[in-house]
Parts: sequence; structure tokens; C-alpha cells
Amino acid sequence: MKNFDNASTTKISKSALDSYNWASEFFYNPSSLYAPAVKGKNLIEEARQYFLKTFKAKLNSTFIFTSSATESNNAVFNSCFTRKDKTYLIGSGEHSSIYEQAKNYLQLGYDVKFIPLTDNGGVDILELEKMLNDKVAFVSVMHVSNETGAINDITKISKMIKTKYPNVIIHSDGVQAVGKVEINLKESNVDYYTISAHKINGPKGVGALYIANPNKFKPLLLGGGQEMNLRSGTENIPGIVAFKTALENIQHKDFSQHKQAFLNNLTGDFKLVSDDKCVNNIISICYKSVRGETIVHMLEDKGYLIGTGSSCNSKAKSNRILSQIVQKEYLPGAIRVSFDESVTIEDCSELAKEISLATQQYIERIKR
Ligand code: PLP
Repeated sequence: MKNFDNASTTKISKSALDSYNWASEFFYNPSSLYAPAVKGKNLIEEARQYFLKTFKAKLNSTFIFTSSATESNNAVFNSCFTRKDKTYLIGSGEHSSIYEQAKNYLQLGYDVKFIPLTDNGGVDILELEKMLNDKVAFVSVMHVSNETGAINDITKISKMIKTKYPNVIIHSDGVQAVGKVEINLKESNVDYYTISAHKINGPKGVGALYIANPNKFKPLLLGGGQEMNLRSGTENIPGIVAFKTALENIQHKDFSQHKQAFLNNLTGDFKLVSDDKCVNNIISICYKSVRGETIVHMLEDKGYLIGTGSSCNSKAKSNRILSQIVQKEYLPGAIRVSFDESVTIEDCSELAKEISLATQQYIERIKR
């Protein structure tokens, strides 16, 4: 099977798995006082320092390790949604771990507003600018869209916001950005930034959250006071160590030729959502008159794994994000392919030919 569904998750790399197994020997509780436990604690601190350096974090900021990006995103909302007389602006294309919370807070009576998207699924900065006023307390805009690959210029966005409204708290979900676009937390001046290990060939069940001002953060998980009192729960030493290894081994591969080869070989009546302002490893296309699910199964029979849009939207009746940017007749035919290091340029050409053939066969079949 050739895997073209790497935005939903990735296979743990050998080096990350080796690290995981090695660090599993430090199974002692890091809060204990004897030497092997202290060694485990030190491994976590080394990882934290590595994350701070790699992402060019601000002085006095920190990273906390969590169980997932979903937890990190929930922790941010839990800390920031404090006043019903304030406005909370959320990108319309956010991952469900943001969107579902936004809907929940809206139901609880908070003033939540959604920022419209442009045609490639990125937030519309001009619309965002119009939505800003003295009442806005919080803005959450993802760095890279998991659905379309659109890149939001978070540095530009935070500059635009903070120049006029310095007290607005800015969060960015950077899960799909790691290894794909430059991340400079100091320069982007965001207050919170979310990442996840399993999207970069690390283990599942490990996430992290950058917190620019730890003394302003209200923890989501209360208990034993681990993670500097910011996230209780016994630390996942192997997971954290393997997350660090995954980060160290990111290849920063350029997928522009892969994308080109794929698009050059794609035929039929489709809309390309992922334009040239998107990352090159995620391509969202919508075919007219076909059903994405059927194409996914036809491709699986030919040895290719692809998606019908992001996996968190794959069970929904209609795609909440694409329905904002693609004409109705193209929506059922949504397909998402996403590359990792294992796929070659030739694989991308072949995949496009197979998708073109499958969509053509589908249309001929329903005409009969
Ligand atoms: N945010 C984005 C943009 C994602 O793509 C994902 C993964 O699907 C998540 C958050 C959730 O990540 P996790 O599986 O670590 O909770």
C-alpha cells in the first residue's frame, strides 16, 4: 500500500521508536527523589529546552507536554475563555478540537465569532481586521490548515492585532506547520502555540503547548502539580523523549515537485483548493459529479491510501470547511492527498493518473 494520507497521522520513525524504548527504562515517577527518577525528570527538561530553542521561543516562556494537540487546544480555551463581555475570534477553518470548543462556549453564552476564509481555506485577513475592536480578548488562527494546507501568516496577523490591541491573546494551532514552514515564536509574538508528535513521525498520545506567559495560564488539569504546576498528571517520559527525537530528525523536504507532478497528471472536472500559497505536502481537490468516499475505496483497491478531506471531517455529512469555499456540486467529490518522505515524484504522477481514471469510471458507471 502507498500511503498518501500523511496529514491525518504518520508512522513512528525507527529513531523515535528506539528513543521511546530506551526512555521506557526510566519508568520511575519523575517526582520521586532517587537518582533514576531524577534522570527521567532531566530528560523531560532537556526536551523542553530543545523545544524552546528549536521554535525560537521568547524569554521566560515555556512548553508544557500534554497528551495531544487536542488537549493543548482545550487547555488554551479553558484558560482564555473567562469573560462573557468580551469577544473571541476563531478561524472558520480550525480543526475540530478548536471548532467544537468554540461552539460549546457559544452555547454557554460567550461572544464567539468566526473569521471567514479565503478560497484556499486560509483566514481572510481583511475580514479579520474588520472584526477587531476593543471588546476582542482572544484570537485563534491555525498556522497551516490540515484540510487544505493553506498557510496563515501568523506573524503578520499578530502584528496587525497587537499593534492596535496589545492585550489580545493570540493562539495558533501549529500541528500541521512543524517541519513544513518556518516557526519563530518570538517573531510571531503569539501567546500560545500547539503541536503534536504523531504528525511528525513521533508517537501518538503526546502533544505540547507553548505558553508565552506561564504566570497568566490557568491549568486545565489539576492534581499533583507536575509540569511546573501547569499540567498535572505523571509525565510520559518515553513519549516526550521520542517527540524530541522526531523533531530532531525532521527532514524539511521540499514537496513542490511532488505537487507539480500530481497536478500535471490529474484530469477531469475538478477544483483545486490548495493553491500555490499552501504547503506543498497537502493537496485538496474537489471533483464534480463523483463521491469522494467511492473514489477512496476504488483507490484502496489499487493500492493507494487517500482521504476525502481531513479525517476529523470524514464522518461528517458535509465538510464544514470546504462547504465555505467550494461550490455545492463539487463538495461530495472532495479528496485530500498528503505526502511524506516515503512517496516519490513518480508515485505522485501514478496516483494522479489512477484518481483521474477512477473518477472517469465512476462518472461512466452512474451514466449507465
Ligand atoms: N490540530 C490540527 C491542525 C490537526 O491536524 C490535528 C490532528 O488531526 C489536531 C489538532 C489534533 O491532534 P491530536 O491528534 O494530537 O489531538
